[in-house]
Amino acid sequence: MPSEFELIRHFFERPARSARLGVGDDCALIAPSPGMDLAVSTDMLAEGIHFLTGTDARRLGHKSLAVNISDLAAMGASPRWATLALAMPTADEAWLSEFSAGFFALADRSGVELIGGDTTRSSTSASIMICITIFGEVPPGDALLRSGAHPGDDIWVSGELGGAALGLAQRLGRVTLSNQDADYVTRRLELPDPRVELGLRLRGLATGAIDVSDGFAGDLMHILERSGAGAQVHYESLPRCAAFANLGDPELEQRCVLSGGDDYELIFTASATRRDDVERLARELKLPLACVGTMLEGERKLEFCDAAGRALPAAGGFDHFK
Ligand code: ADP
Ligand code: MG
Repeated sequence: MPSEFELIRHFFERPARSARLGVGDDCALIAPSPGMDLAVSTDMLAEGIHFLTGTDARRLGHKSLAVNISDLAAMGASPRWATLALAMPTADEAWLSEFSAGFFALADRSGVELIGGDTTRSSTSASIMICITIFGEVPPGDALLRSGAHPGDDIWVSGELGGAALGLAQRLGRVTLSNQDADYVTRRLELPDPRVELGLRLRGLATGAIDVSDGFAGDLMHILERSGAGAQVHYESLPRCAAFANLGDPELEQRCVLSGGDDYELIFTASATRRDDVERLARELKLPLACVGTMLEGERKLEFCDAAGRALPAAGGFDHFK
């Protein structure tokens, strides 16, 4: 059985590229580009909480990094470096090989260099834990904050909502979908595509932003809380996964679209005077951007309305401790 050090060397050590010193010493050494702010974020994925036991290891390697990159996207930061802490009950080399392949495929595509981490055994009853810290760069003053939205701003959302939550429902056997829809929503759940390019292009255009990790309603609420404003959202204008049209379950659809986690789209706000710029950006990126509502003066209240303008009952986001 290989030692911890052999495993690290074999699966995670690669020659340093932009880091001055990568994996292998007590610390890594990195030199941020002159004049840039470092954007730093940590996300932890726990088996049974954030991913199902038996999830394909290659996809898990992708997703673990993708959810971290998504936080940088939501700040308008460009991804640079990451550290990876792993706890697992046994050193399963086949699993590590697949996991690292998924991790590095996305890392290479996203310009992320793995510069360090920690590897440890979890007690036999415990499961896999994956904790990644990501480092990105953003020019001072350009980061997209949750606190920057103003009353009167448009509220936008990228891509589509609810697919990942539907993928989870499908995985848990709660819905039956065609093979094609099942495959599509499973990919939405397991292979999220962080909106890095969008985040970068929103510098100087968006007033506020957040990524959709816990569900549209809950994540938009974070913008309201930090910006001290309210919002009205048109439920019908929320972009949603096409599989819902075939399902014919409006209740489940609403739950997934408003409160389903794991979509990793961006919600952002922008002045109504910049609508043309946002629409042009959508065409350039070939990424749908939907204007779904408006920021309001006053109370931090999120209202949903139907096509006729009637209020819909509110829906919360996903909270791990509820
Ligand atoms: P220390 O005991 O000083 O924490 P370790 O033996 O834990 O050192 O790690 C040795 C080297 O391997 C360090 O550079 C560390 O950053 C790196 N490392 C450990 N685990 C991982 C991992 N899962 N991914 C990337 N690098 C790792
Ligand atoms: Mg260590």
